[in-house]
Amino acid sequence: MLVTGGAGYIGAHTAKALDEGGFFPVVYDSLSSGFREAVRWGVLVEGDIRDAGGLGAAMDAYDVGAVIHFAGLIEVGRSFVTPDLFWNVNVTGTQVLLDVMRPRQIGRLVFSSSAAVYGDSGRGVLEAIAEDAPKAPASPYGDTKLAAEALIEAECRDQGLCGVALRYFNAAGADPSGLIGEAHEPETHLIPLAIAAALGRAGPLTVFGDDFATPDGTCLRDYIHVNDLAAAHVAALRADLPPGSFEALNLGAGLGRSVLEVVEAVARAAGRPVPYSIGPRRSGDPASLVADPARGAARLGWRAAKPDLEEIVTDALRWALGPAYGEGRKEAPAQAAADPNRG
Ligand code: UDP
Repeated sequence: MLVTGGAGYIGAHTAKALDEGGFFPVVYDSLSSGFREAVRWGVLVEGDIRDAGGLGAAMDAYDVGAVIHFAGLIEVGRSFVTPDLFWNVNVTGTQVLLDVMRPRQIGRLVFSSSAAVYGDSGRGVLEAIAEDAPKAPASPYGDTKLAAEALIEAECRDQGLCGVALRYFNAAGADPSGLIGEAHEPETHLIPLAIAAALGRAGPLTVFGDDFATPDGTCLRDYIHVNDLAAAHVAALRADLPPGSFEALNLGAGLGRSVLEVVEAVARAAGRPVPYSIGPRRSGDPASLVADPARGAARLGWRAAKPDLEEIVTDALRWALGPAYGEGRKEAPAQAAADPNRG
């Protein structure tokens, strides 16, 4: 299985799930934001998603049977600054990938999409989002995910590809092994920032707005364990879907948690308070993004197995307490601690 962007957060967890499922992951990654140390399963081929020659060589060398496509730029804020780069990497990159797959008759593509395709248009605050909800991305990042989906859907319709676009809600947590986890530079996500604040590694967390029309005034998000996301990708490879079909599926737990609920969960897991202050809203933040996960359950036989926020935060904390990539992460911190002769 070719895993573009497999050295990144969700990609690395998916490579592990593939390995556990009996597949051989061929990670294709430029390492521009991914980590060499995250590639522990299968092999790493270094290359850019826009490089047709590099992609084709990797597919031929390993006789690739299907592709999971994560490679892309993900920072919503940066997408407002360099939208052209986001279109180039995320959309042109996807077209290059399709062009390279076509002559090789690789029949299935699982694509890393996002709840950012929905935006905030005309929905009740507590309303769960189904796949046919209006698409109104609130950022260039969301625009590029929707455009890449359209390219894939056309390839399915016209060329017989089977495509599955997985629209993630809020990916969170880490593999319980402690070997891989979330490592973004710069980090902008709530749970790692709340953990860093609790541990005194960063200043107080800024809560972006407490005047939303939600129960406690802070934004509601659907936090989904990264192991659950990884399992959904394997399920999408295995699902009984015909050539020429295209599915776009929400991946969420179907539960909305507020920013303050996350802050409390981190404080409980860390055993210390999360210092925070209330700041202004962040531009492009919808009040609520909560998945209706029914279609994914029907098509993939998949549902979130780890929906509990405490477990998600505890796994994220375990990862945060271990050494970072590049600093000798060799084994799970819990195992190292249990055996005084190791580590
Ligand atoms: N958030 C926050 N402070 C931060 C980072 C995030 O209050 O420093 C909020 C953000 O407004 C959103 C939620 O936490 O409501 C999740 O944000 P994150 O950036 O983790 O994911 P996103 O929802 O943007 O994909």
